[in-house]
Amino acid sequence: MRLLVVEDDADLNRQLTAALTDAGYVVDSAHDGEEGHFLGDTEPYDAVILDLGLPVMDGVSVLESWRRDERKMPVLILTARDRWSDKVSGFDAGADDYVSKPFHMEEILARVRALLRRSAGHATSEFVCGPVQLDTRSARVTVDGQAIKLTSLEYRLLAYLMHHLGRVVSRTELVEHLYDQDFDRDSNTIEVFIGRLRKKLGADYIRTVRGLGYCLTNPEDAA
Ligand code: CA
Repeated sequence: MRLLVVEDDADLNRQLTAALTDAGYVVDSAHDGEEGHFLGDTEPYDAVILDLGLPVMDGVSVLESWRRDERKMPVLILTARDRWSDKVSGFDAGADDYVSKPFHMEEILARVRALLRRSAGHATSEFVCGPVQLDTRSARVTVDGQAIKLTSLEYRLLAYLMHHLGRVVSRTELVEHLYDQDFDRDSNTIEVFIGRLRKKLGADYIRTVRGLGYCLTNPEDAA
């Protein structure tokens, strides 16, 4: 899953980006409202963390503009402590959730997990496809209860497919959601990673849908 962090405090931006990257997300970061607005308008993020007090263009204006342009990704706003009016204007502008500063990183991670699973229409942090289980809290994957080791890209790939279980996902979509903006993207590498995942999970779960992409399903459900 690919996230955008818009935060002008350089240290905080770095900490957020590092913690989210460690948690298995791919993260782009912006340091002012204009840059953040542009990225959120042009790149397909799965969720955004948006500070409200930003230079050049404030967070509420950024969010209002995205929503006017039908950008529907979940947005978690960061507000100053005790500024209840910020929360109100943030929600009115289209925010899905908020965290007040200062915050514990664990809270941000938990709220991001919740936003992502909710937008996937899923009620818990565990995703299951037959014997394959992915826990977004620990970023762990098991098959029949046995932990399996995935590289960070393999994990991101599986997490994206799990959040879109039963839906055909194109290679282009995968590339857009698995790599950050600076990455030299090559959709052919996706096939390589799909192959590696199949080796680790078992070959039956990720179907290739010719000309369209890939679909994660439990073959037993179809039977
Ligand atoms: Ca700020």
